[in-house]
Amino acid sequence: MQTRIFSSAEISQAAELLKKGEIVAFPTETVYGLGGNVFSLEAIQKIYQVKGRPQDNPLIVHLSHIMDIERLAIAVPDEFYLLAEAFFPGPLTLVLKRNPNIPSSVCAGLNSIAVRMPAHPIAIDLISAVGNPLVAPSANISGKPSSTNLNHVLQDFQGKIAGVIDGGDCPLGIESTVLSLIDPAVPKLLRPGEITSNQIEKILKRKISSFEKEKDGHLALVSPGMKYRHYAPNAPLRLFSSFLKLSAYIASVPFLKRMLLSSQKIENSFPLCDCFFLSNQTLYNLLRQADEKGYEEVVVFCDEKILNNQALMNRLTKAAEK
Ligand code: AMP
Ligand code: MG
Repeated sequence: MQTRIFSSAEISQAAELLKKGEIVAFPTETVYGLGGNVFSLEAIQKIYQVKGRPQDNPLIVHLSHIMDIERLAIAVPDEFYLLAEAFFPGPLTLVLKRNPNIPSSVCAGLNSIAVRMPAHPIAIDLISAVGNPLVAPSANISGKPSSTNLNHVLQDFQGKIAGVIDGGDCPLGIESTVLSLIDPAVPKLLRPGEITSNQIEKILKRKISSFEKEKDGHLALVSPGMKYRHYAPNAPLRLFSSFLKLSAYIASVPFLKRMLLSSQKIENSFPLCDCFFLSNQTLYNLLRQADEKGYEEVVVFCDEKILNNQALMNRLTKAAEK
């Protein structure tokens, strides 16, 4: 299969492919998504297959108009509308009760459904042109770093999907916040992102819970995600919150081809490492470069700024070696 590359002026051609049940990747403000028509069983199946995604990991459904929520979910609580008013379009995904009309394979057999409205003109125009919401899991081979530009998508899916729309670099670079509204007693943060728990709590005027938070408020440094390793480069990725421990570790194994990521200028202290600036926007590009350039190890200095960035720490711990 030849993968067609569309410009932002060719959205209607991409929409035609999606209407036929084909897969087209497209940019959002977070990362690139692997788009498929939510009502096409064939498209859903293809997405799981090309990504190599475990069948029990559900897809997020993207809509372009709030009215479409009734097609996707039932018993939509008032808090959904409060959050939608505050944050849609934007990087917040909300989990609701699935409308039985939605194929259960979209949601990996769950009775719930995750929905969001992306804040990217190409994504919104594409969904509107198709006339149906689109599933759009992150456009990466399962377990690997997400895609934040056209080249990343082509590296993983050239020849395997019908098309991709080029929207340049994704402005945020990290996936959406995921919040479940299934339990009326307490909304639950399932994945941290650009929109923080504090912002959500301000709108809801009540506390939400997070199963990933540790007592000290920081996400676990070295324990990767509960079930799957995510976002991982081929090389081992190690996290250090202490500069002394980082220095001692590097001195103990000095001659590896090593990528060192930090939000500070620390290259003078580590002349044998290749140092790069780490942020939400640079993370996935750097992890992909680690693979392309054959780095033997990726080491991250997690200073206060990075430790306090819940979304970034979540991706780093999931990518880190156990
Ligand atoms: P990705 O599409 O790669 O950004 O990942 C989507 C994330 O949303 C995964 O962590 C899923 O587990 C989560 N997700 C999608 N649908 C649901 C759902 N119905 N209930 C809970 N989590 C969901
Ligand atoms: Mg993903």
